[in-house]
Amino acid sequence: MNLESAELQILEDAALALRSGFSDLPDLCEPTNVSTEQTILNSVAQRLHDNFPYHHPMYLGQMMKPPHRLAHLAYTLAMSLNPNNHALDGGRASSEMEKDSIQQIAAMVGWDNALGHLCGGGTIANLEAMWVAREMTDSPIVAVSDQAHYTHSRSASLLGTECLEVHSDQLGRMNINHLKELLSKHNVGTVIATLGTTGLGAIDPLEQIIELRAKHSFRIHIDAAYGGYFKLISNLSAYAKKQYQLIPQADSFVIDPHKHGLQPYGCGCVLFKDPQAAKVYKHDSPYTYFTSDQLHLGEISFECSRAGAAAVALWATLQRFPLIPNGDFAQRLECSRRAVLQLFEWIEKSPLYSPVVTPELDIVVWSVQAESASAASAKARKFFDAAAAKNLHFALVTLPKQLVEPASQITTWDKDEVTCLRACVMKPEHEEWMPRILQLLGEVSNEVLENN
Ligand SMILES: *Cc1c(COP(=O)(O)O)cnc(C)c1O
Repeated sequence: MNLESAELQILEDAALALRSGFSDLPDLCEPTNVSTEQTILNSVAQRLHDNFPYHHPMYLGQMMKPPHRLAHLAYTLAMSLNPNNHALDGGRASSEMEKDSIQQIAAMVGWDNALGHLCGGGTIANLEAMWVAREMTDSPIVAVSDQAHYTHSRSASLLGTECLEVHSDQLGRMNINHLKELLSKHNVGTVIATLGTTGLGAIDPLEQIIELRAKHSFRIHIDAAYGGYFKLISNLSAYAKKQYQLIPQADSFVIDPHKHGLQPYGCGCVLFKDPQAAKVYKHDSPYTYFTSDQLHLGEISFECSRAGAAAVALWATLQRFPLIPNGDFAQRLECSRRAVLQLFEWIEKSPLYSPVVTPELDIVVWSVQAESASAASAKARKFFDAAAAKNLHFALVTLPKQLVEPASQITTWDKDEVTCLRACVMKPEHEEWMPRILQLLGEVSNEVLENN
């Protein structure tokens, strides 16, 4: 929603500058049929109304954050060439921008010699890390918490590796005692730690996982698709800070620039501490890599064709928002942290709700008070609809009894899971908007109470 005329002017200037680099080519007369295209585009705009308003601070539902204006513009500019980062032949400049961006992310992680690349998203990034792990360890068995992203077990089945589910504790973190038990019974090759689970934003105890590695020698993969960038911020709990500090001791790392890194979708990233991981990707394509002996990204990535525009957008964004502690980018994340804590405190004070856990990052989940689990779930759905009717959008999440029970007043457990409300307070604007959001929240709560 941010391409106003000033932005379009910047884009037009940059498009002219781009075109001037190709001015020695003979002119192209491109046939245009602008009025038909305008009609179609207007009908596209109409159809797109059937969406939640993801760009607006009153949307706090799923993990969705609008790309930064600069990313939007750089992506659009690159699209006039549409480079393909699978090989230097497909995009020399955009491949360089990708390598440069990867180095910046690796520097944030704390690795100087890492191998890595961009990819379609967190799912592919984690799949690649699991594939490399399978090839570089002597056991294909993976252990991952029951609160981890659902795609891990799917990817494990794709890779034909066994995936052990480690129980989570009452804070939604990997239960270390259960991990110990599994390690004593199975030859686990890789433990996947999530720093920022998708449901609760919980942080697995990396410190204890690293301690266990000394005895059981497994690989550690970190899934920080959502939570990775919080490494840069100062207003985390001491526990969270500690786990983030230990990231460099892992073997591989995944982060999604399209989640918190201000990028359009189609931008995930996987990094390997040991550049030897490259040998797993080795292949001999007869047709893609013929014009240069330099590294083509397709030689170290699972996918072939990939949008060079994604790398261009990320590179441009990193020029404006370098990944440094206390920088502009870190401060934007800190705004989200302060905003989520305001929301959390409000929920905690309200007699109607109970937060499930204290937010570690910028997600908060809460249950609605009721006598039974099924009544609490029904009330949560009512609340969700009543809020949406006021243009205030949350998400619903179903959690197991064991996570909800400690903080809730539910006495009749007629179901062993409860539907809760979830807010992803991911936009820096949320801090400024929070008083207004809380006021609306109060109004919605009264409505739900009265209609009971
Ligand atoms: C979103 C997410 C994924 C999946 O990433 P996609 O980009 O949606 O494919 C994996 N792990 C975690 C922790 C996530 O939050």
